[in-house]
Amino acid sequence: MNENQNLTHREGANFGVEKKQPQTKQRKQVSNRQPKAQNLQKEQNFAVKTNKKPVKITFLGGVGEIGKNITAIEYDDEIIVVDGGLAFPTGEFPGIDLVVPDISYLIANKSKVKGIVLTHGHEDHIGGLPYILNELKVPVYGTPMTLALLDNKMQEHRIEYKAVTVKPKNLLKLGNFQIEFIKVSHSIAGSLALCISTPVGNIIHTGDFKIDFEPIDGSMTDLTRFGELGKKGVNLLLCESTNVCRKGYSMSESNVGRTLEGLFEKFAGKRLFVSTFASNVHRLQQLLWIAEKFKRKVAFAGRSMINITEAAAKIGELSYNRENIIDIDKIDKYADGELLILCTGSQGEPLSALTRMAHGEFPKVKIGEGDVVIFSASPIPGNEKAVYNVINALYKKGADVIYDELAEVHASGHACQEELKTIHALTNPKFFIPIHGEYRHLKRHKELAISMGMNSRDIIMPELGMQVEMGENYIKQAGFVTAGIRLVDGYGLGDLESNVLKERKQLSEEGICVAVINMSSSGEGGFEPFIITRGVVYEKEAEAFTEDARSVIASALREQDLRSFDPNEIKANIKKVLSNFIYKRTKRRPMILTILLMA
Ligand SMILES: [Zn+2]
Ligand SMILES: [Zn+2]
Repeated sequence: MNENQNLTHREGANFGVEKKQPQTKQRKQVSNRQPKAQNLQKEQNFAVKTNKKPVKITFLGGVGEIGKNITAIEYDDEIIVVDGGLAFPTGEFPGIDLVVPDISYLIANKSKVKGIVLTHGHEDHIGGLPYILNELKVPVYGTPMTLALLDNKMQEHRIEYKAVTVKPKNLLKLGNFQIEFIKVSHSIAGSLALCISTPVGNIIHTGDFKIDFEPIDGSMTDLTRFGELGKKGVNLLLCESTNVCRKGYSMSESNVGRTLEGLFEKFAGKRLFVSTFASNVHRLQQLLWIAEKFKRKVAFAGRSMINITEAAAKIGELSYNRENIIDIDKIDKYADGELLILCTGSQGEPLSALTRMAHGEFPKVKIGEGDVVIFSASPIPGNEKAVYNVINALYKKGADVIYDELAEVHASGHACQEELKTIHALTNPKFFIPIHGEYRHLKRHKELAISMGMNSRDIIMPELGMQVEMGENYIKQAGFVTAGIRLVDGYGLGDLESNVLKERKQLSEEGICVAVINMSSSGEGGFEPFIITRGVVYEKEAEAFTEDARSVIASALREQDLRSFDPNEIKANIKKVLSNFIYKRTKRRPMILTILLMA
């Protein structure tokens, strides 16, 4: 499905769409030294009249939350969309599998949307696309790795779409916009930042990134390019905020490799299991190298581990000697010290390979005494309990377990404070909007920018649905559009307003009581209500409860005027008396179903 399109290389291309005005932003340090010059410049800028339309930036996800990143950038009658992610549901939506962004705004402006540009292949950036591309028939742009992961998804959903491969340093013209792709390091290969040239100035969108001075793929986050763009003039910086609360620098991926190598040495002779995200191909690459060095055969366990390593190898993001890879079913043919098993389940996912192994439910692999399991990942907030449950189960089976609290077996893919500062310093933007974070992250990121000399009025705190208007010399909040969530329930999109979720919630918290009443046996006042409950009463009280419930219903029916017989009225009445009875007895309000049997 990938269609290669010739994209101009940035060299020689006219990058700045319009001649830029001098910067208005005052860095504290600068303004202290040259107050007069700065003020003069500022006045001049305000005097410049421009008839250019503003650029509108609309946040449809990823702000005030971690997950479902999606931003629309609009000029005149053209919109480009950056990313289209998903989020995982919290307990408030029982049974819901995924949460995807509400894109009513894009659908209402369908004809304007020119394309979707992807920064990288993580779920919070591409996971919503099957539910977006079935409504918006626009091309998607991404690196080979991003598109390989996307294609897996789209095949599963059987949605036709058009994908165009892009690479760092490519220039892409989409209507009034010109997008330059900039290489960044992150915990997945093929990650990009974007420089979006608009008629009113350049916007830099960092995507997710870190600055790794010893990257596995040998090419660093393109700091030089960030600096060059900063020199040319950056109007707006949209920068991710995930690790803004962490001081210093993130650890290099190479450091993780050195720790892992140490563990291979330490546990020579033992069978090794390592669990990590299958999409973290640089981590897997290091593990494959180390395995080769220590003469261990590698087996992959878990569907995504097999699929993604295969896809990454095909596009050249992962390289290994095929002879060193063995089928998981063949591991019995090798001694413990000759094996490395790379498995899914670093987040304690219930159906993953490692979780099933920990509970003895994975066919052909029994973990026990003498085995070593390394969690080369840290739990995503919310997954801690699931991960620790798996660790506990592994310990109980007699295995040794190493996780990130015990050794440097994982490095974050997100920039910490000093790295964020570096990007701010290099790009030197007029305006700044922190993205990719909960409100607390965005707030801290704003403070970080202010500490570097930015004026608070040049920073906007984004909110879900907020539309921001940007001109050459101003930025302002310009109202809100419809935004929020859509719920994915099994195969379809669930409806937030529907009763299904309310009912699931009631069932899960309060239980259910069914009363079946045979109306034909009403002869001598001898109603025989039949009561079934689930999740309402404990076994020892069940019999007495049922007896009492039956007599409550029977007496309610005796009082009812059965001559003006209206089944709905009878049902409503029974529901009321039964509900009151159960509440008095249990302090619960279960779902009540009344069924009247007519002879
Ligand atoms: Zn990411
Ligand atoms: Zn992300």
